[in-house]
Amino acid sequence: MIIRKLKLKLNKSQEQTLETWLWNLTGVYNWSIRKIELDAQNKIYYSGFDFQNLLAGHSDKLDIPSHILQGTLTQAHSAWSRCFKKIAKKPKLKSIRNKLNSIPFPDPIRSPKGNRINILGLKGLKFHKQSLPEGKIKLGRILKRPSGWYLCLWIDATHTFPVKMTDKVVGIDPGFHTLLTLSNGTKIENPRELRKGSERLAQAQRGGRKKLASRLQEKQANRRNDRNHKISRNLIENYKTIYYSDDNFKGMSKLFGKSIAEASLSNLIGMINYKGRLGGRSIIPVNSKHTTMTCLTCWSLTGPIGLNGLAVRHWQCSDCGSVHDRDINSARVIANVGSGFDLGVLESSIVGDR
Ligand SMILES: [Zn+2]
Repeated sequence: MIIRKLKLKLNKSQEQTLETWLWNLTGVYNWSIRKIELDAQNKIYYSGFDFQNLLAGHSDKLDIPSHILQGTLTQAHSAWSRCFKKIAKKPKLKSIRNKLNSIPFPDPIRSPKGNRINILGLKGLKFHKQSLPEGKIKLGRILKRPSGWYLCLWIDATHTFPVKMTDKVVGIDPGFHTLLTLSNGTKIENPRELRKGSERLAQAQRGGRKKLASRLQEKQANRRNDRNHKISRNLIENYKTIYYSDDNFKGMSKLFGKSIAEASLSNLIGMINYKGRLGGRSIIPVNSKHTTMTCLTCWSLTGPIGLNGLAVRHWQCSDCGSVHDRDINSARVIANVGSGFDLGVLESSIVGDR
């Protein structure tokens, strides 16, 4: 499934329609969230299918196509079921501060003609032209963002990624000081625009310039996403086997707060995984429990420990005297452990970047 986002060029009446729908759907969404909560207290639970049909017949009154209503009910239902399954927090009601900003179109959509597309209840939406992959459009969603309106399309097609014929192995260590460190010694830092952008965002937030801040926030999210796509594509293209430490950044996020950076890192790992699968690569998580502590030269556990050791960027092994860069050492240990090397067993043949 490929997701594509089209920027829409709406006329006044189309925009008006969407605004009205959003307004009415906010009510529907909040009603659904409360209804599920209250009924659950009385031990009444709904299946997704039952719940989505709860407002059948109301579409005329609200002047919204019935499938959009169903989509919003489904959205509320799955927000609660994620919470019931303990994978998410209790869903919040939508309000001025926490606006509903998307409209679901849960049905297949006909492919656009030129730069116009018809969706349920709205004909001939114009968009900034971009080429779309061949395939059936399974569903869509309209998003309202500070920079305008977008239509997301879920297209039934598979990505292909160019991969080199290679046997190269790499270990990667995700982190906050350095975004990714590779076992060949490469450090991938955040792109400059992203760093500059967060300074500008902080300025806008301090100055209380809400509109500007929300636009900058959107830009930053796009930049992070671009960065992740580039890095993951690059890794998949060049390495046949990728080992990554799976729990490093979870521990760190406790220190840094559950941050955007953490979400973005796990998003990056997700991308590496799915692109790797499609490209026929092996992407393998490695338990990173001792990776930063382990000296690559003599395999003693002499390195910095846990969160307190985070500030330590370089260290010297007290057993063998080797000096290590914390992240590179850790990425190499990951590559070695991934390749079947048992930590704690002394071994002189060390895999660097093969
Ligand atoms: Zn050592």
